[in-house]
Amino acid sequence: MAPDALSDHRFVGYRRKLIEEIRGRGIDDLVTLQMFDRVPRHIFLPEGVWPRAYEDAPIPIGFNQTASQPSLQAYYLSILNPGSDDKVLEIGTGSGYLTALLALMADRVYSVERVRELSQRARKALDDMGVKNVALLVGDGTIGWRKYQPFDVIVVSAASPSIPSALVDQLGDGGRMLIPVGSRESQELVLVQKTGFLVTEDVVKGECTFVPLLGRFAWKADEASP
Ligand code: SAH
Repeated sequence: MAPDALSDHRFVGYRRKLIEEIRGRGIDDLVTLQMFDRVPRHIFLPEGVWPRAYEDAPIPIGFNQTASQPSLQAYYLSILNPGSDDKVLEIGTGSGYLTALLALMADRVYSVERVRELSQRARKALDDMGVKNVALLVGDGTIGWRKYQPFDVIVVSAASPSIPSALVDQLGDGGRMLIPVGSRESQELVLVQKTGFLVTEDVVKGECTFVPLLGRFAWKADEASP
């Protein structure tokens, strides 16, 4: 990344437009919108796609993966509402963009990614931004990150055939998780909430398309490619 990329003013106007677009999609939670103003999305993406960095669209980041659509991430944040005392587990670091947004809102973020190169790139961008409250792990997120449980918030950014039970187990009392559940082609976004021993599951959004969650308690890697 060029040394001045972080403060590149060409991108400020695009960022404001993106925020307007997110508002246009019905997300008007001010805290969430402010976060989108604070994180330069382009530094989390390969330089070749920088001209598209502030489109409200999924963007390819290599290794058959995409950075999720910003308005969908805004939706995640507005529902999960991570607070400054919260411990967050993210499954699917990908570009690290959502990781940075979460890190600004929460106390600590623990993020698991199965593709080592993506995790390394995300670390570099987070360092460039000066984000210090994020721990990254390369591994299978379908088993969670037991060492740091329980979590107040769990964010799953890849589609799963079912809800991995380890993730529900690692949710703390009062904890909430969003996870896309369904087929390889189309999923519903499910909000899982835990209060004491009571666990509720509610579909909060239909017809989403995420990249597949590949791991022990989701799809196997060789089932994934069409
Ligand atoms: N929020 C990210 C989304 C990236 S796409 C972003 O906006 O950039 C989902 C990511 O989940 C991909 O990087 C993929 O490699 C990762 N992934 C898929 N299965 C996984 C698993 N079992 N454990 C951890 N990461 C996984």
